Amino acid sequence: MACISPQASSSTSLSSNPTRLVMFVKVSYVGAYPPYFIIENNDHGEHQPLAAEWRKCIIEYLDEGGANFIFTLRPASDPLDLPSRLRGKLLRLPKSLPHVLPADEQLQTFRRNFGNLFPVEHIIIAELVRVDHSVVAALNNGLAHMQPSTRPLHRLTDLLPDSDMAGQLITDMTTAPGQTLVQLKPKWLHQSPNAPTNSRRCRTCALRAYRAAKRERTASDAQEICPLALIHGDITIRRHAFAQITADRKLREYLAVDAQPLLRELRECQVDFDEAGVLGVESETAIKSLCKAMTLRDCTLYVRRNGEQGSDDGSDDENYAAGGSKRADDGVEGGTSEGDSTIEARLGDLDLKLPGRLDYWKRTEQDLVDGGWYTNEEDAALRTPETICTLSVDGS
Ligand SMILES: [Zn+2]
Repeated sequence: MACISPQASSSTSLSSNPTRLVMFVKVSYVGAYPPYFIIENNDHGEHQPLAAEWRKCIIEYLDEGGANFIFTLRPASDPLDLPSRLRGKLLRLPKSLPHVLPADEQLQTFRRNFGNLFPVEHIIIAELVRVDHSVVAALNNGLAHMQPSTRPLHRLTDLLPDSDMAGQLITDMTTAPGQTLVQLKPKWLHQSPNAPTNSRRCRTCALRAYRAAKRERTASDAQEICPLALIHGDITIRRHAFAQITADRKLREYLAVDAQPLLRELRECQVDFDEAGVLGVESETAIKSLCKAMTLRDCTLYVRRNGEQGSDDGSDDENYAAGGSKRADDGVEGGTSEGDSTIEARLGDLDLKLPGRLDYWKRTEQDLVDGGWYTNEEDAALRTPETICTLSVDGS
């Protein structure tokens, strides 16, 4: 079994960026399954001679959600300083919050529910890593001293546990110079089973209109894209939809053509795991299946291009990975190559939704049906003729 023993030292330092943690990293191997990486702090002083296998690396805050922090792993100088098992990876560490599952349970849940649904080259891969308490303490110290404006305001008190902990190494889909990334949430790629037969809006467009009437607007809403257009049988409609997502010509064409089998597989899974619709779910088995469907309706597709510029207007795409920190992935797998351009597509954000959301999902669905949002027959004071949804625009 491969083990990685990064060793923070007296050179473990907090620079102007308080979560930029410099440390020494070692890779070793022990025989056990599953592979389990170890990051630890042996408290070596930088002045002490270091064995050849220790490498100087940097861990740095990238982003956070409700349950996990994401850190980049980079070599301090020479790219070869980063052990090969860490190259192209991000470090994902669970927060110390009551509702957050430990990393090994997060990984088991992911593998049990989503591990076999998609080709391995089209999914964000994860493996376990163990982090020593001294490294965790240094990261916590850095988090506590970050500028409040650089973290989500409602999450400023979130920290890591004060102990050894497990985390995950996940595929790094951030970008380096010369790379372009687009990330999108495909949302509901099919109509809701509970929608009226005379609907003029799909589930996603109905919810967008409903939110707009309440003066709410998510980032997905702002794009004003109908998910049904993303997998429409007419390639002209698909190209038009993706043109609203990215100005990069090669990424647009990849999404409209090469990514179609993956998007259609995603749609099939969304349909298969929710045959009855949210309002028809009763049994425990059906609720578990619905949680998988709802997760797949909220996942993210990351598409990254290596190589020459493909933008019509010379501008980079606006939808970069959260956090904006960029770095290269050494190996691009399972992508499509066009000339000097190689494109890689992976699904991520597949953290299983919990059954506790069921009442909210049912209430939302009932509101969409009762309020006439599917049929564009909402209250006259709120009504806007639908101009975005494929069900209204081309009547399909
Ligand atoms: Zn729609």
